[in-house]
Amino acid sequence: MKRALVWFRRDLRTVDHPALAAAVGQAEQVAPVFVFDPAILKAPDIGPPRVAYLLAALDSLDKNLRELGGRLFIRSGSPAEVLPALAQQIKAEAIFWNDDVEPYALARDAEVQARCQSLGCAVQRFQDQTVHGPDSVLKSDGTPYAVFTPYSRAWLARPLPKPLPRPKTITTPAGLSSDPLPSLAELGFTLRIPMISSGEKAALDTWKTFAAGPASSYASGRNFPALDSTSRLSPHLRFGTISPRWLADRVDRLLAEQPAHRKEIEVFRQELIWRDFYKTILRHFPRVATGCFKPEYDALGWENRDDLFTAWCEGRTGYPIVDAAMRQLNATGWMHNRLRMIVASFLTKDLLVSWQWGERYFMQHLFDGDLAANNGGWQWAASTGTDAQPYFRIFNPASQAEKFDPEGRFIETWVPEATSLRYLPPIVDHATQRTRALALFQAARS
Ligand SMILES: Cc1cc2nc3c(=O)[nH]c(=O)nc-3n(C[C@H](O)[C@H](O)[C@H](O)COP(=O)(O)OP(=O)(O)OC[C@H]3O[C@@H](n4cnc5c(N)ncnc54)[C@H](O)[C@@H]3O)c2cc1C
Repeated sequence: MKRALVWFRRDLRTVDHPALAAAVGQAEQVAPVFVFDPAILKAPDIGPPRVAYLLAALDSLDKNLRELGGRLFIRSGSPAEVLPALAQQIKAEAIFWNDDVEPYALARDAEVQARCQSLGCAVQRFQDQTVHGPDSVLKSDGTPYAVFTPYSRAWLARPLPKPLPRPKTITTPAGLSSDPLPSLAELGFTLRIPMISSGEKAALDTWKTFAAGPASSYASGRNFPALDSTSRLSPHLRFGTISPRWLADRVDRLLAEQPAHRKEIEVFRQELIWRDFYKTILRHFPRVATGCFKPEYDALGWENRDDLFTAWCEGRTGYPIVDAAMRQLNATGWMHNRLRMIVASFLTKDLLVSWQWGERYFMQHLFDGDLAANNGGWQWAASTGTDAQPYFRIFNPASQAEKFDPEGRFIETWVPEATSLRYLPPIVDHATQRTRALALFQAARS
């Protein structure tokens, strides 16, 4: 074919990009395009960190495409209007993109597809966001798994897909111009925390640092927030500046290279399987985006007190581990996984605030905010999800701190005043709230 469009979305890279590789393989000229969609930029869960990260990743993608002879074309507006118009303008015979799993994206894509096809522009879609697609790890009767352990066993039994190389050259249609990449301020956002590195090269460096060090002790180190022993790849996976299949392939190689550390590295691979699992859940059970996976818990009588929620957001609960974690989030746009579990349990089971309030706050403040993983994590902690923490097992923030921050180093970093007598008194009593949370769950169950 003569001309094609490649629609970039949350796959902002050139290596192992199925849609880009297919378009370059089939068309003489390819126009890579990104569309700023006002519906996403105005959504209630959007926040400055993700938009800033997106802009930096787009800038870096444009540079990487230019190294191959191409470039990125920027547009703004509803994709269902912008893309068919662009396809007509350049007489594209096909548009290529990598599929998403989120309900909004699926509806949007169906509309773009129908409009493009009605204009005679073919649509080619590819599985990309996960190592194994949401329809390839299914039970023997063809239905999706709703429990992680059997899902992970089935995932591991499948051969890993081979990552695709970066295209050698890209030729874009002559005379096509791009809108300028908007600034963060032009999009209406201000980032008040330090920016983190973005783009394919940064992703590769992040992986290399992890593989050369923390990976070999991942299982032992990953639960301790004071140690920097996790990969920090989450924003890269979120925006696709690294490919999950490329990563799984590298993990596989690392396992072969370091047999002595096999058990440690296997636990890291398990986290990538969790990531695939939650995306598969969202794809097959889209109701989780707006309600509990276990529908009986939609009736939970959360108290939703604004004052308690605000204290949680601001790290002023009087529980040092919770406050330290929330301050880490507010100051850096990232929070350690163990702490995400602790603060999510605390918001829901101690403060009796709906998991959906916390879910939205995380999305607004995280660089890696991702609907599937965030929703899965929150529903797990709130005991409303797939294979959730049973509702009667409630994290005790004090014993979590003793176990996972035994010397108080993490707390000391973010709440140095915690050891002084002037530190805030706890806003609720854990034992009392625990009893009340149990009653709430029992009432919903009956
Ligand atoms: C309440 C709650 C909310 C969360 N919200 C998000 C979110 O918005 N975005 C997000 O990417 N992760 C989320 N997680 C999962 C996890 O906390 C982060 O992925 C992790 O802390 C990111 O740091 P890392 O890259 O160093 O992780 P590593 O420990 O190095 O893990 C490697 C990668 O595996 C994936 N991963 C790890 N743990 C999980 C998990 N439990 N579920 C799904 N994927 C996982 C991530 O992509 C991560 O980058 C959440 C967890 C909880 C409990």
